[in-house]
Amino acid sequence: MSSNIKIVRKCEFCSNEFTAKTLQTRYCSHKCNSRHYKALKREEKIEVAIKKNTDPQVYDATINLKEFLSIDETAMLIGASRRTIQRLISDGKLKVAKLGSRCIIKRREIDLLLK
Ligand SMILES: [Zn+2]
Repeated sequence: MSSNIKIVRKCEFCSNEFTAKTLQTRYCSHKCNSRHYKALKREEKIEVAIKKNTDPQVYDATINLKEFLSIDETAMLIGASRRTIQRLISDGKLKVAKLGSRCIIKRREIDLLLK
């Protein structure tokens, strides 16, 4: 019975109309199917790359040149989590200066910590 079904559909890749044999058919040919699949995969890869670029944890090379750093920047610089830095501070292993509610960490203190 299913072999008698004739459905006119539009190919998802080339937009040509074609007669589908089943409801699941989305492309006019196998070629369009694999081409569309490849295109989608490529888009996925681009999306992942964009996400990586907008990730706030992405290493910022200018941090390395700063004299004073925030907790976030320090974490980024040494590749540790924010919590690790806060623990180092509360343990007294990393000296910080308080600027209001903000913690300022001297670059030199980080270098001493890593020695
Ligand atoms: Zn097609």
